[in-house]
Amino acid sequence: MKPQVIIIGRPNVGKSTLFNRLVGKKLALVDDQPGVTRDRRMGDAELANLQFTIVDTAGWEDEDPDTLPGRMRAQTEVSLEGADVALFVVDARNGLTPLDEEIGRWLRSQSVPVVLVANKAEGKQGEAGIFEAYSLGFGEPVPLSAEHGEGVADLFDALYPIIGEKADAVRDGKKSAGEEDGEDTLLGPLKLAIVGRPNAGKSTLINRLLGEDRLLTGPEAGITRDSIAIDWQWTDPRSGERRDVRLIDTAGMRKKAKVVEKLERLSVADARRAVDFAEVVVLLLDATQGLEHQDLKIAAMALEEGRALIVAINKWDVAENASYLFNGIKAALDDGLAQVRGLPVLAVSARTGKGLDTIIGAAFEIRESWSKRVPTAALNRWFDDALEANPPPAPKGKRIKLRYITQVGTRPPRFVVFGTRLDALPTSYERYLVNGIRDSLGFDAVPVRVTLKSSK
Ligand code: GDP
Ligand code: GDP
Repeated sequence: MKPQVIIIGRPNVGKSTLFNRLVGKKLALVDDQPGVTRDRRMGDAELANLQFTIVDTAGWEDEDPDTLPGRMRAQTEVSLEGADVALFVVDARNGLTPLDEEIGRWLRSQSVPVVLVANKAEGKQGEAGIFEAYSLGFGEPVPLSAEHGEGVADLFDALYPIIGEKADAVRDGKKSAGEEDGEDTLLGPLKLAIVGRPNAGKSTLINRLLGEDRLLTGPEAGITRDSIAIDWQWTDPRSGERRDVRLIDTAGMRKKAKVVEKLERLSVADARRAVDFAEVVVLLLDATQGLEHQDLKIAAMALEEGRALIVAINKWDVAENASYLFNGIKAALDDGLAQVRGLPVLAVSARTGKGLDTIIGAAFEIRESWSKRVPTAALNRWFDDALEANPPPAPKGKRIKLRYITQVGTRPPRFVVFGTRLDALPTSYERYLVNGIRDSLGFDAVPVRVTLKSSK
């Protein structure tokens, strides 16, 4: 079960607004009038990648705002039993009331951990209230504006030490249960696009992979049919396992083009459409032509779109100076594509069939890291080490504080780093973090996105 977080506070402090904010939907009715009756609500909440169940106690209060209502007490006591933490919400704007103090006393008699939240803390008007809230005896209040969405990073900070482990365990436990069915069941057929300049050998490669002459090939550039998606099953030669692949071929439009320049342009347009559809993009190069500007352009576009990328050098059967060629292409890719390092580069021949299974095998593998989630605890262990090994600079003597990191998405992997004075963080330091994520957490060759967010 996900960890449960219960919101407690007197009427009108913004409990429903906070509930809505955390659930991300307009589920609850928000009203200016205190005591508007609402049913008890539970929702699935997400704060960065911390997932929990949120319980709103708004509406359990009686009409009289100055006494702790018996109804609330009874209801809340029942709910507190299942809760991992209580968010005790007070109003920073209007200050503390006797009822806040009474709720505080009562909460202290319960065994649930309490996080004090000073809501409506946006702007100057909130400042005094934040200070006042210390007097409730729950330590430093988390200043928040539920209405404006400010301070949620601090809320994460406060909640993570209490429920992070449980949340991670639930999420990772779920994942491994799914993995028993095979990862393909989770991820579906591998969506693969093979892109490259005209004549690189895309159609030949696709025909060879499918094991039948379904597409026309010839010495003339671009004699293929219109773009199509082809579903087929690839047999993994290592395990004998059959795995679903959906292949896109968008080369079709090229046959209408007459001149070479137009062909070149069309191959980028084709690639763009293929990339839109794909999880993994295979950029096919021609060993007799080497790496050209156009190839880099297509590769960069695929990475910008957040796709996982594999480079395959085709026509290896007729390659000259093979190792020189191979190393040269690898170096040019590293130079030309700052977004990734260690792209898989494979030497293949669509004509002889050499290396074709390797392409598909590598594509399945890279899709896995592209779809991977790193548990927050492991991520922050790495983060702490990285900061210790190379602390962020202190421009003009003022420290830049990086507080924590969280993975907010996959496919491609996306991370948010929270901290203060982030405007002053040099891009070289950002790159240091991106490279570290990629190298230390198993995201080689995958475009990794990192955003900085101010936690103040
Ligand atoms: P509840 O009775 O505790 O559930 O409180 P509500 O969520 O219904 O909010 C009461 C009032 O406070 C509403 O008018 C909200 O718009 C307002 N409110 C909630 N959060 C904030 C905030 O962060 N800042 C300000 N200024 N007003 C807020
Ligand atoms: P596309 O325009 O990228 O679809 O390229 P095609 O599949 O039509 O191939 C263009 C030309 O390259 C054809 O003459 C193919 O026979 C040839 N070709 C494709 N793959 C190979 C290969 O691995 N080795 C050699 N030597 N020629 C190849």
